Amino acid sequence: MKDTIVVSTSKHKLDSYRKKRDFSQTSEPSGSRVSIGVPDRARFVIQKHKASRLHYDFRLEVDGVLKSWAVPKGPSTNPSEKRLAVETEDHPMEYADFEGTIPEDEYGGGTVMVWDAGTYENIKKVDGETVPMEKTYENGQIEVSLEGKKLRGGYALVKMKGRGEGNWLLIKMKDEEADARRNPTSTENKSVKTGRTMDEIEADSAAAG
Ligand code: MN
Repeated sequence: MKDTIVVSTSKHKLDSYRKKRDFSQTSEPSGSRVSIGVPDRARFVIQKHKASRLHYDFRLEVDGVLKSWAVPKGPSTNPSEKRLAVETEDHPMEYADFEGTIPEDEYGGGTVMVWDAGTYENIKKVDGETVPMEKTYENGQIEVSLEGKKLRGGYALVKMKGRGEGNWLLIKMKDEEADARRNPTSTENKSVKTGRTMDEIEADSAAAG
C-alpha cells in the first residue's frame, strides 16, 4: 500500500523533470523505473556538472525522489563558508547513478560526474524529537549527516527568506568532520563512481557517440 502511494507521488513530482528533457536525445534516465526496496538509510549524491556554468548538483533522497539544488561554488568543509544552493526540479532516483555527457543543445547540456555519493541520516531535531525529512524540506530547515566518500558529517540546508524564490544556503555544521583547510572541490576532482576526471568522461562519451 505504502509503495503504491510513493510511486504515484513520484510520477507527479517528476513532471517538471520530464518536460525539460527529450529522452530520445539525452542518455539521462526518464525515471520510469521506481525502486521499491526501502534501504535503511536514504541516499545522497553530488554531481559535478559542466553546463553553461560549472556547478555542483546536491541531491537528497526524500519520499521516493531526489530533491535537488544547484550549488555554483560546490560544498565546503568550512562551517564559515555559506554556499548558495538554488532549488531545481525533483530528479528520479536513478539519476544518482548518472554520469556522462548531455548533448550540447539539450537541457543541461554538458558533462556530469558523480563527484560524491553515499547515504545520509536526518539529524534535524526539535525538542529532542526528529522532524520528518519531508517536513524539514517544507520548513526550509534541513539538517543531515552525510556518509560519503568525500564529504562526511553534518550539513544544513537553510531556505533564505525574502530573497529570490528557491534560494537556500548549504552550510557545513560544526562537528569533527568540519575542516577549514580542506578544499575538496579543487583537490578531489575525480568521480567516486568510475575514478574518471571530467575530461575523461567527456572523451569516453564522445567516443561512444
Ligand atoms: Mn545541473
